[in-house]
Amino acid sequence: MLRFCNDSVKIYEGKFDVNTAVFKNGIATDPNVGKNVYDGVKEILITHGHADHFGDALFLEGKVKILAPRHETPLVENPEINWRGMYSWAKLPEDIVTPYFLGRGVGVDEFSDSLEGADIKTVPTHGHTPSHKSYLIDGIFVAGDSVHCPSYWEKFGILYYVDPDRMMESLKVIKREDWDLLVPGHGDVFERREGLKVIDTNIKMLREKEREIYEIVRENGDDGVEEMEVIAELARKYGFKGVKAVLVVMPPVRGHISSMCERGLLELFERGGKIAVKAVKPYRQKS
Ligand SMILES: [Zn+2]
Repeated sequence: MLRFCNDSVKIYEGKFDVNTAVFKNGIATDPNVGKNVYDGVKEILITHGHADHFGDALFLEGKVKILAPRHETPLVENPEINWRGMYSWAKLPEDIVTPYFLGRGVGVDEFSDSLEGADIKTVPTHGHTPSHKSYLIDGIFVAGDSVHCPSYWEKFGILYYVDPDRMMESLKVIKREDWDLLVPGHGDVFERREGLKVIDTNIKMLREKEREIYEIVRENGDDGVEEMEVIAELARKYGFKGVKAVLVVMPPVRGHISSMCERGLLELFERGGKIAVKAVKPYRQKS
């Protein structure tokens, strides 16, 4: 249950392997342990609007101040918005939604976008979600899902993010911040030396995923390939099955395709009523 402990913080391994940090100074981040570890806590900071990052906030509502990024707040208060968005806002049966996104909403008391104090700073780390924020507290970088554990990349092959370019920018920002301990949203925590390597692994993986997607498209020549077939090919490669998994992989794949369309490498077009994509320029990594 307790994953890490030092003079200023206790980090708990919460539900879905999420990292819930409880600081001595009365701040807790991404609460989802499922039991009360929050004695002395006065403020809860939420990194983003995925329900696996704020599950415990509901039983703390009214007792502590709950802070979340302004544009993530609608998702924290009403998580259904998130999975409806994932399905083009259409109605969808709840049993096809990833359990990571299912939960009960909680009222947000204040926005956390620009905290700045002696031992706290908000760092914008957009990309996993549109307005994801990280928190640098007492030399500890609470990265939420702006950093994924290398073991997660290995296990799943591709992970959730909506904007790979902003994800990449965020990773570069995190490297420049002054922290001693890196706390990703899920899995292990890392001392600085190791943490910098973990960030480099994330950067490498984002580049690899982009290249993989480009190659799947290019192999289909001028005819291109249906967008859903790109997703299916990755599903076959990494062995994920089921509607939930496919829905989770759609945003990162589409994010990469959009980025490469913006850079003129790929082009989206309609074919027989389906969205297809083709390569129009040789691959070049984003500078
Ligand atoms: Zn998340």
